[in-house]
Amino acid sequence: MKRILVLPGDGIGPEVANEAIKVLECISEITKEKFEFEYELIGGISIDQRGVPITDEVIEKAKKSDAVFLGAVGGPNWDNLPMDKKPESGLLKLRKSLNLWANIRPIKILMKKISPLRPALLKKIDFVVIRELTSDIYFGTPRAIEENRAYNTASYTREEVERIARLAFELARKRKKKVTSIDKANVLEVSAFWRKIVSEISKDYPDISLEHVYVDAASFYLIVNPARFDVLLCPNLFGDILSDEGGAIIGSLGLCPSASLGDSNFGLYEPVHGSAPDIAGKGIANPIASILSAAMLLRYSFNMEKEAKAVEKAVEKTIKDGLRTQDIAERNQRPVSTREFGDYVVKKIKEMYL
Ligand code: NAD
Repeated sequence: MKRILVLPGDGIGPEVANEAIKVLECISEITKEKFEFEYELIGGISIDQRGVPITDEVIEKAKKSDAVFLGAVGGPNWDNLPMDKKPESGLLKLRKSLNLWANIRPIKILMKKISPLRPALLKKIDFVVIRELTSDIYFGTPRAIEENRAYNTASYTREEVERIARLAFELARKRKKKVTSIDKANVLEVSAFWRKIVSEISKDYPDISLEHVYVDAASFYLIVNPARFDVLLCPNLFGDILSDEGGAIIGSLGLCPSASLGDSNFGLYEPVHGSAPDIAGKGIANPIASILSAAMLLRYSFNMEKEAKAVEKAVEKTIKDGLRTQDIAERNQRPVSTREFGDYVVKKIKEMYL
């Protein structure tokens, strides 16, 4: 039996998480592998009901589970709270407490027509952003807002860079054997250090080609030649930004899944997008990122590669059959609801196993 802690969160979080859980329940039914789901609070809803964005009890429950599935956190109701009381700080605390130091974000073209790029550029967009998740300027100290100045500290230890670099090289081995390491080594000491360590680690992977690209150039190449990338190895801040750009070039943030991993099979799975307050409660959010995050959960935490592929295939078939939520619908096309899309994916999974 596998235990999954579900943290639906705020805004569209519960709506899209619901469809992912439906898919996992379907896989459980088909494979007879028992999944037990427990629901808990994170983000704004936790602030409202418990006074903090995440309680220590929820973190303990997460530690005792085999995987955590998260919707999204945040929204305008909580925007004016101090930084350490905001919904997002609950998510940062969860990732840090669980020592989830690697964030994996696959970027793959699913629908050519919704990409803002020229069709000629779309052919081979299939890369993975590996974002370091528990260090860099997000966690470094000192940090403060004072009356007349504010500051943060970007810092990396050797161990932090080594482990994320190894993960990137290992992943590249299963793909097109190319790692692009992102930094700003021409300006920042922390980046020069990152580059040095990544180069050292690359000596253990002679079969993988390594290139170093400045973050500004990388953001340029993502638009003009995205096919050049296979595995993008990024420090926390640059990975955060470039992976959203990745979402933009494939047409919607609503298509991008993610997995956050640490030293074991345990992981936290969540769509890359936020709580989308502008469309929350309408039942129109795109559940693809959430459902594909569930596929990553099957792959990385439960070692169920065949089932993960079945879920990904079912999403592709659903798109091929013409179902579109509002964000990806073409003109004159009737969009389906979040729930209708999820139901159709489940139907396609069942058909595959008949
Ligand atoms: P967002 O990702 O929530 O939304 C950006 C735009 O994309 C919006 O127009 C939204 O409607 C659209 N969008 C996002 N996901 C979609 C989906 N599944 N289907 C259809 N459209 C979708 O980013 P934002 O507006 O900058 O942030 C809103 C809130 O979410 C903020 O409070 C922010 O801090 C928070 N946030 C949370 C996370 C997280 O929980 N991991 C990540 C990013 C932002």
